[in-house]
Amino acid sequence: MAFLPMAPACRPCRCLQQHPEDGLPTASVILCFHDEAWSTLLRTVHSILDTAPRAFLKEVILVDDLSQQGQLKTALSEYVARLERVRLLRSSKRLGAIGARMLGATRATGDVLVFMDSHCECHPGWLEPLLSRIAGDRSRVVSPVLDVIDWKTFQYYPSKDLQRGVLDWKLDFHWEPLSDSERKALLSPISPIRSPVVPGGVVAMDRHYFQNTGAYDPLMSLRGGENLELSLKAWLCGGSVEILPCSRVGHLYQNQEANSPPDQEATLLNKVRIAETWLGSFKETFYRHNPEAFSLSKADKPDCTERLQLQRRLGCRTFHWFLANVYPELYPSERRPRFSGKARRDPGKMRRKRGGGWIHFCMDVHFQLHNTGLGFCADCQAEGDLLGCAMLLAPCSDSRQQQHLEHTGRKQIHFGSPQHLCFDVRREQVILQNCTAEGPAIHQQHWDFQENGMIVHILSGKCMEAVVQENNKDLYLRQCDGKASQLWRFDNVSAVDER
Ligand code: UDP
Ligand code: MN
Repeated sequence: MAFLPMAPACRPCRCLQQHPEDGLPTASVILCFHDEAWSTLLRTVHSILDTAPRAFLKEVILVDDLSQQGQLKTALSEYVARLERVRLLRSSKRLGAIGARMLGATRATGDVLVFMDSHCECHPGWLEPLLSRIAGDRSRVVSPVLDVIDWKTFQYYPSKDLQRGVLDWKLDFHWEPLSDSERKALLSPISPIRSPVVPGGVVAMDRHYFQNTGAYDPLMSLRGGENLELSLKAWLCGGSVEILPCSRVGHLYQNQEANSPPDQEATLLNKVRIAETWLGSFKETFYRHNPEAFSLSKADKPDCTERLQLQRRLGCRTFHWFLANVYPELYPSERRPRFSGKARRDPGKMRRKRGGGWIHFCMDVHFQLHNTGLGFCADCQAEGDLLGCAMLLAPCSDSRQQQHLEHTGRKQIHFGSPQHLCFDVRREQVILQNCTAEGPAIHQQHWDFQENGMIVHILSGKCMEAVVQENNKDLYLRQCDGKASQLWRFDNVSAVDER
């Protein structure tokens, strides 16, 4: 049965000093499979039974997703019948990995669900860190570090660096080594790693948390993308996602090209569902990076109504918030603000010939921020020092310096003169502050000017709105709903002075 070479013990030594606490929650490990090889399936089961402490392992639930291979029928039933705490469920129709995992979850009785692919190798001590983190906070979604087992040679490749799980704009999952600064920010080399997403192979969370937050998307098909959906949902709806360096599991990685065309199409459709449900206006960025998904979304528009209702019921945040707080590195560089009016010219000196000599002109290009719904412009009406000035709407006037603004490529809104300041936020009100120096992180002064005319404060995910109260029209952050007072346009106003 055991064709796999012994896997090296690769947990950092410090993990040995961590003793399992008393009173950890119990786990139900759910392994779904479709025509998995006998040896890898049983190796997975035995490695769980050999490593998980009895006190914490409630059960292993095998879910047969309509396998065709003869050995997986009677022989498997007989084999499993002899194993303590291992149960076998058979599905009478093909559910796909997502549906089969959910079927297993409905039968589970442990406190924590661990979904595991049917070709894994668990190392001693892999389960306790997962349970311990979930015991500390029931809204954590956690994964072990997954080592790579080559599917052709069964060669074991332990992952060496500290890594986190990330996604790209095609909605593919990757492992990414931590940067120097991220590594330094960890309390110790075995601290949990805050991670944008978990991998698909092994993931654990509280059973009630899973069920109460909408489980997996039941309309996803076959396999692929469910780990991203689960992770985004966790982050956006009050939970968090971590990779735990002390928990190690080997996973047999198949070549993705080995997937059949129906499997690939299913994954693509699942990604479209993620984009339509969770990405908000950033779905356009996904479609730009994944034209195949765009065509598919046009041909077969998915119905995400229930997922969107779930999002409202749970009071989930926007994808902007995720980009600002969890994974700023993903912020799309091409998403520059859109200016209306003439093409922007850099302010600068121009020379024009007149009467035989050269005269210098100073071309000054400014923008006004025009609220298209109410028909007024953003203005600051303080006298003297403008620091802290609350922005409001006033009748548009090209010559009024207090209306001269500029939205920079780096997402700040600069206020030109007489003082150079930036749009900032204090208690949800838009005010002027000294401009923050630009760094990699997203901060209070970052605004995204969207194609639909809304200006999103990236950190909060809320929209700039002109709130009409008595005679005032002050600028505040409000939930984005696209009402007229949330629609903006940058108008070009150029003034040429002769010098
Ligand atoms: N699986 C399943 N039904 C399916 C497809 C996959 O039960 O229709 C199982 C598969 O046997 C494995 C898990 O789901 O245990 C994840 O699939 P796979 O390993 O192919 O995904 P990958 O690790 O390549 O992302
Ligand atoms: Mn797998």
